[in-house]
Amino acid sequence: MTNKDPQASTPGLRTRLSHMGTSPAYVGGSAVNPPIVRASTVVFESSAQQREMRARRGQERIFSYGARGTPTSFALEDAVSELEGAYRTRLLPTGLAAAGMVLLSYLKPGDHVLITDSAYQPVRHLVQQFLQPYGIEYSFFAADGNDAQAKMRPNTRMLYAECPGSLVYEMCDLPALAAMAHAHGALVAVDNTWGSGVQYRPLALGADISIMAATKYLSGHSDVMMGTVATTQAAWKPLADHCDAFGMTVSPDDAWLVLRGLRTLSARLRMHEEHALAVIHWLEQQPAVQTVFCPALPSHQGYALWQRDCAGTNGLLSFELPPGTPTSVVDSFIDGLKLFGLGASWGGYESLVTSAQMTQARSVTDWSQRGPVVRLHIGLEDPRDLMADLEQAFDGAGLGKALTSIHASSVGV
Ligand SMILES: *Cc1c(COP(=O)(O)O)cnc(C)c1O
Repeated sequence: MTNKDPQASTPGLRTRLSHMGTSPAYVGGSAVNPPIVRASTVVFESSAQQREMRARRGQERIFSYGARGTPTSFALEDAVSELEGAYRTRLLPTGLAAAGMVLLSYLKPGDHVLITDSAYQPVRHLVQQFLQPYGIEYSFFAADGNDAQAKMRPNTRMLYAECPGSLVYEMCDLPALAAMAHAHGALVAVDNTWGSGVQYRPLALGADISIMAATKYLSGHSDVMMGTVATTQAAWKPLADHCDAFGMTVSPDDAWLVLRGLRTLSARLRMHEEHALAVIHWLEQQPAVQTVFCPALPSHQGYALWQRDCAGTNGLLSFELPPGTPTSVVDSFIDGLKLFGLGASWGGYESLVTSAQMTQARSVTDWSQRGPVVRLHIGLEDPRDLMADLEQAFDGAGLGKALTSIHASSVGV
């Protein structure tokens, strides 16, 4: 009888292993941050409660199954709704998934969507590869919006903008475009990844739907993928229904990481902005730099709209090298940088460089006569170190001071 359970009346060890430690009793205060609640199954107190929760979850946010979110993701949804000035928010696995779910939720066969020429490039691929076979028409409007009204069709159901645009940050007059689209009976969706709910707020400017890649500034540390879609009350239901039907959800750990990131969002953006402006003003003095693209520059196409509609800028800037600069020279400049990671994403604490393929990224605007465009994301490093790094990379690629003498000799000075 050596194996006999000392507490004969309690359930066996195997049973207790399933139940022990599930509801800790403690006294004290509460944590600053919402806890990470990991869950697939959610259990109810009674059949009646389960029935009631199921009946209500179509309209209300109810914790009923992991796929419909957890208290951790609900906390992030609320934070994003507040940032965006939205009725509610859904979280998706990536920023691209968020854009895709918006198109799927509001468009049906026979509809037409008018998309900005400055859209994040994979969105262009998404509509070309996947909308057309489902009978959804698309076309592109100029990034500044000047031809949007003329391109509206009787079946246009959505105007999809990105402001400022990807790569060279074109601004459009969103309130004017929204008024035009609404008069036409079309919804307005905006990719707000650049503004991240701090520097730009599309819903306050007339949009119905705002999309963000939380992968970028919201998370801020290059270690999590996530997309958000925030809408007005009127636009909410199709999005919520589609996300539920397709089982769209995010991990509570990822939601927690983004919540952690957004506590410092405003502080980081201020520093990214300050550092980027320092680098921009230095770049404007460099002989190889033809144009610097940033909406906060008075020389930029969108400066007046940026002043009117944006609260600031961020760490992004792009610049154009002389037309005809060989790819090998661009590569040698990029590869010569020591403090900039070579990578396409942005929004983390660190500086990045990538070459922007403008002719592939635009179909309305002709970029074929322009020089190669390089995009930088200016991180939180000391900008003096970044400028020194850029200077040695320009020199190493033959784009530094020597270029001035080449120019000077070619024009016979
Ligand atoms: C990065 C990015 C996305 C996509 O986000 P992922 O999380 O990388 O899928 C969408 N829009 C813009 C403007 C982006 O820069």
